[in-house]
Amino acid sequence: MRLAHAGGLTAVARFIGAGQGCLLLFHRVAPADSWAGLPNREFHIDAAFLGRLLDHVIGSGWDVVTMDEALARIRSGTGRRFVNVSIDDVYRDAIEVAAPVFRSRGVPITLFVATGIPDGTMTLWQAGLETILLDRDRVMLEDGSAAEAEDAAAKRRLFAHLAAAWEADAPELRYLRFCALNGHDPAALHDRNGVSWAMLEAVRDDPCVEIGGHTVSHARLSSLPLEDARQEIAGCRARLQERLGLPVQHIAFPYGQRGDCGEREFSLAQEAGFATAATTRRGLVGAADRSGLHALPRNTLNGAHRHTSQVEVHLSGLGGLLARGLRAI
Ligand SMILES: [Zn+2]
Repeated sequence: MRLAHAGGLTAVARFIGAGQGCLLLFHRVAPADSWAGLPNREFHIDAAFLGRLLDHVIGSGWDVVTMDEALARIRSGTGRRFVNVSIDDVYRDAIEVAAPVFRSRGVPITLFVATGIPDGTMTLWQAGLETILLDRDRVMLEDGSAAEAEDAAAKRRLFAHLAAAWEADAPELRYLRFCALNGHDPAALHDRNGVSWAMLEAVRDDPCVEIGGHTVSHARLSSLPLEDARQEIAGCRARLQERLGLPVQHIAFPYGQRGDCGEREFSLAQEAGFATAATTRRGLVGAADRSGLHALPRNTLNGAHRHTSQVEVHLSGLGGLLARGLRAI
């Protein structure tokens, strides 16, 4: 079955009622002229596409709002339909590349920060591996052989191969070994990719930037003992408030799918004082979520999204309907 063309879905979206909204998220953003050459480009959206998407959303009559405003509209069930856009984890590009795209249109972006990134306690191994492959055409591997990757396609293949191999067993350790083998400093690579406290402090009063939490270490919360999960959630909020002096009201769960967070984590987010918590389960938000503010659906964008028509499936709510329908089969 052909679902509908873009215009059709936009028409569907027009019937979405007052106080209803769509939460969108992505991870990294790259300038249009460097996106195509990235070894892990699926993880980045193209900044030019992001600009077109915002123009399309705004031009179609959606308000782009903070999570504070989204919460107010969900609670009241009134106000125009809305979109919130968030970035998870938070790398430097969130502030250097993404925030200016929002600021130039006078609309806000929400940053869900894993505090282990500015604290330097998380090993950003995927970003580090990608940076090394961008810098070099030849790398040494742990078995003593060398791998050549001279063009973008070869770098993408090598990234996918190494990331899959490392992910299966101790990725952080294997990344640190790889850095040593190839003469790279992991701390310098961390600084090139991760957001810093100074960068976050510089935007803390920016009306176009809202800051929320994404745990301390980006753990898969459902796999942790209760006290550890509590610390990941409450500790993240305490750290952000301590460093930035902001009332941090919103959190997004790492990974965010059904197996990654559930009732226990929703309760822990509420207990820690967060007013909302977001998953990555697809769908729209609205008055029906008043009783589920700590399990809000959110829709993921990635590098495969190159055209605004691809986002219509989320804006129309069809993505969530399809996801629920497929589970029911
Ligand atoms: Zn994340």
